[in-house]
Order: sequence, then structure tokens, then C-alpha cells
Amino acid sequence: MTFVRDSKFSSTDDAQRFGDLPETVRETDHYQQEYIEQFADRWDRLIDWQARAKAEGDFFVRLLREHGAKRVLDVATGTGFHSIRLLQEGFDVVSADGSPNMLARAFKNARDQGLLLRTAQADWRFLNRDIHGQYDAVICLGNSFTHLFRERDRRKSLAEYYAVLKHNGLLILDHRNYDRLLEGGSAVGNGKATVYCGSDVEVGPEHVDDGLARFRYSFSDGSTYHLNMFPLRYDYVRRLMGEVGFQTINSYGDYEHSHNNPDFYVHVAQKAYRFDDEPPQI
Ligand code: SAM
Repeated sequence: MTFVRDSKFSSTDDAQRFGDLPETVRETDHYQQEYIEQFADRWDRLIDWQARAKAEGDFFVRLLREHGAKRVLDVATGTGFHSIRLLQEGFDVVSADGSPNMLARAFKNARDQGLLLRTAQADWRFLNRDIHGQYDAVICLGNSFTHLFRERDRRKSLAEYYAVLKHNGLLILDHRNYDRLLEGGSAVGNGKATVYCGSDVEVGPEHVDDGLARFRYSFSDGSTYHLNMFPLRYDYVRRLMGEVGFQTINSYGDYEHSHNNPDFYVHVAQKAYRFDDEPPQI
């Protein structure tokens, strides 16, 4: 598959390229330039898998089982954290991601644990071009949806997730509590959703406005990487999900129903048609 590449950001030496004005980089395609091989390698140091597994507990496994999901499409595989966990729990998983670097790393991580990952390189905006079959659940986790900068891209991606789901399928999508960040609060509060745990990395926002949250990831070996992301507001994401056709949307804060200023939100959007006269239950 082909990606639109902007020559001003093109990278030949495996370094991130944001140009002279990094805060002006607000492009959906730019994720390809951000998840370079070196960063993919360090991503697993950024994320302490054991600490993350502990923080999540069996939240996603339980949720999927409660809805009878067996066949799961991980659209933001990254280095494979959830794909591997779900395979170990007996789910039938296909692991997609737009970044070949991240997929290669995920494949290796799975192999190191004696598992074979079924991977597919696919950009969310054209998901159904590259992914075939129907799924009980689509997962888009680890603050991934935030990489889409245009509303058109967000709508299209959600529509592509919707299309690949069975008639009663489930979309599980998470994001940081950007509302708090946009209102001047910190990226990490007292929340229990310790997604980004790791002893040799510091993660923090470098710039935040309504159209950009630029995060810095500084590793103890002196290397520094950045991700430019779109700050998704809680109400906005739920509204978009309803507008593309999801009928019921339940949202959680740090893996709990009652969300009191969490670090992360998880939205669970159901496709199953509601026969009552109520509008989509969000
Ligand atoms: N889910 C993983 C986790 O929780 O560790 C990975 C999260 S990582 C923050 C975001 C992932 O989304 C990256 O692997 C990136 O390549 C992928 N991604 C970003 N934009 C994408 C797009 N438009 N299509 C497909 N994948 C995309």
C-alpha cells in the first residue's frame, strides 16, 4: 500500500523529522515519520508491560467476553501489547497497524513468547481495502486515535471500523484525558490507568493547544522523541461515534464506570441496532 509522504518531513536516516517548526506539524500521515524503527525499539522500554498489565487487570478481556466476542481486530497493534495478551487468552486476533516498524516489532515480541501474530499493514482510513472478513470487536487502544488530525479522517476511520464489525460488534477505543490538559491540568493525575510506565523514560507535554498536543519522550540513554497528536475531547469522541452509527456508547475512566478526573478514557461503542425510539444512547 502507499502512503502520502511529505518530502519536507522525509527521513532517510531513521530520525524523526518535524522540521524547523514542529508545532505546525498537524498532519494525519505524519505518524509514519514518528514511529521510526528506533522509537519502535524504545517503545517497549517506554511501556513497562508488566506494570501496564497490572494497571489494566482483566478489564478488556472481561469486556470482550461479556459481549461474546471471539474474533478481534487490533487496528493499532503498535508493538503488540494487546494482541499478545488477547492471543494468550484464547481470542482469535488479527493485528493491524499502519506502521511497518511497529508491526515488525509486534511480530518479534509475539514470537519471543511463542506466539504467531497474524499481521496486516493497514491505515485506518482505508481499513477495508486491506482487511477482509468481519469481526466481533475492533480495538484501538493506547491513545492511538489521537493521531488523526482532520475531522474527515476521524469520521472515515470510525466508519471503516464500523464496516468491519459484525452486526452486533463492539468498538473499544481509548484516549488520554485531554480535557484536563486543555484546561491547564497535568497529563498524569492520580489516575490508575498507568499506560505509559517505564523506569527509564520521562513523558510529558511540550505544547498544548486546541489543535495539537505535542508530547516529549526522554529516555535515560539521552535520546528524545516526540509525538504530535490531536487532543480529543471526551464529549466530541462520543458524539462522533454516535454520528457514524454506533447505537450505544458506554465510557469508562481509568477502567471504572464512575470516572472522576481520570488519566484515560475508554469508550465502548456497540453497533447492535436499538429498536426503541431513543436516540443513540451516549
Ligand atoms: N496500541 C498500542 C499500545 O497501546 O501500545 C500502540 C499505540 S501507539 C501510541 C499508536 C499506533 O497507532 C502506532 O503503532 C501507529 O503506527 C498507529 N497509527 C497511527 N495512525 C494510524 C493510522 N492512520 N492508521 C493505522 N495505524 C495508525
